[in-house]
Amino acid sequence: MPNMSPKKNEMPCQSPLERTKNFDEVALGYTEEQAIDEAKRCLHCKHRPCTAGCPVGVKIPDFLAKVAEGKFEEAYEIITQTNALPAVCGRVCPQETQCEGKCVRGIKGEPVGIGRLERFVADFHNAHKVLSKESSAQNDVENEEKAIKNGKKVAVVGSGPSGLTCAGALAKKGYDVTVFEALHTAGGVLAYGIPEFRLPKKILKTEVDGLKEMGVKMMTDTVIGKTLTLAEICDEYEAVFIGTGAGLPLFMKIKGENLCGVYSSNEFLTRINLMKAYENGAKTPLYIPKKVVVVGGGNVAMDSARSARRLGAEVTIVYRRTENELPARKEEVENAKEEGVKFFMLASPVEAIGDENGWVKAVKCEKMNLGEADASGRAKPVPSGEFVTIEADCFIVAIGTTPNPLIRNTSEKLDFNAKGCIVVDENNLTSIEGVYAGGDAVTGAATVISAMGAGKTAAEAIDAYLRNR
Ligand code: FAD
Ligand code: SF4
Repeated sequence: MPNMSPKKNEMPCQSPLERTKNFDEVALGYTEEQAIDEAKRCLHCKHRPCTAGCPVGVKIPDFLAKVAEGKFEEAYEIITQTNALPAVCGRVCPQETQCEGKCVRGIKGEPVGIGRLERFVADFHNAHKVLSKESSAQNDVENEEKAIKNGKKVAVVGSGPSGLTCAGALAKKGYDVTVFEALHTAGGVLAYGIPEFRLPKKILKTEVDGLKEMGVKMMTDTVIGKTLTLAEICDEYEAVFIGTGAGLPLFMKIKGENLCGVYSSNEFLTRINLMKAYENGAKTPLYIPKKVVVVGGGNVAMDSARSARRLGAEVTIVYRRTENELPARKEEVENAKEEGVKFFMLASPVEAIGDENGWVKAVKCEKMNLGEADASGRAKPVPSGEFVTIEADCFIVAIGTTPNPLIRNTSEKLDFNAKGCIVVDENNLTSIEGVYAGGDAVTGAATVISAMGAGKTAAEAIDAYLRNR
């Protein structure tokens, strides 16, 4: 008999008061009993709308059936047939608009907690893999088992979810894969953007270590377009995948944006996440703000605001539409509110006002009204001519990013569109033979799962291209 409760099993979490004092993960994960009980809410619909809603087609009812039977390792095997990073996706995928958005149980109540269960299964596997690795020599032999090498060399540029997925899929097929990463740590946005309290870095490390165990070489501190050119790696490798993301922050182009205390969200989050600048003795400095204004309404704005709260600041998010149009995940908005982040809707900054030392002291905003729908289908914000000034010693701009122009400026043969994104065909092939691309570098800022999907498609295309060469 299915569990007909209209509500998902609650996810145990740190309390808002407790969590604003630390950077530890907010959600603590289901117990085995909670996971089994939640999985029993699945009706095993024949037409599988949830699977159709998953960008990589995870066989959701099949893995849920295994969880309901307590067969967690079998559930893990089913998920990883199509998703290489389940511990990451279970935490950061926008399930509410994907699998859970299509779940039949969502019609008369809450959908099955598919993301929570994906996370549970991945965490169960990782915890038990570590234990068995420590206790069994036999398992060590199994863990060291690698695909038979075919001697063909592939370069992957960028170690975000698209690059890691492509590298993993090719290593499994026996290719000799080298990942070139500009930063000193692999993971892309998963390492420098998404905060520890949403995605603990040890999870990412487990995934990257797994790739290294498979023989993938990680060349960090290597910027393609500076340390080496694309042409140089094309000479040395038989195929190349470019997954360089969209890491160049956009600014508002308003007066005062170059004042001290004004950050792009990328810089603010990189200092906190990658460089742990909030820790005593950290080499990277970070101004500890008292009053912060964040402009933007996406996950990046929520991550910046929630990080600033953890530094002890009073935080206001300024967004030019209403709460209904906020592009951030609902869960992130709710978490931000619980943690005391204030929202100032229907307003847009027009000036960052500085003090006599060149430091930001306030942000002047214009109030907005909602007009007709624009090209994105959302109501267009229309300036009202009425202004409000918010006191702030820190102003974080989180209004979007575009691909960094470094590859574009140093690779004449590569085609780009007007937005600076690499142009590819349906197999993720670029305008250069043997060079493939995917993820945010192709689509502009998108999601982890779409980047992974592109990495997987490109790996299949690279394999088809190199198999008979
Ligand atoms: P990236 O993750 O951007 O990785 C690109 C990598 O390439 C980087 O490591 C970069 O250093 C490296 N690189 C760039 N140029 C070069 C070069 N010339 N040479 C060598 N290396 C280079 N998505 C979700 O689905 N859910 C979320 O909750 C979510 N939250 C987000 C929060 C933040 C703060 C941000 C910034 C993004 C968030 N996203 C989220 C979006 C998601 O993280 C991205 O869509 C995804 O990471 C894109 O993956 P990618 O592999 O294309 O590129
Ligand atoms: Fe189960 Fe929901 Fe998928 Fe139906 S749509 S199979 S209830 S998870």
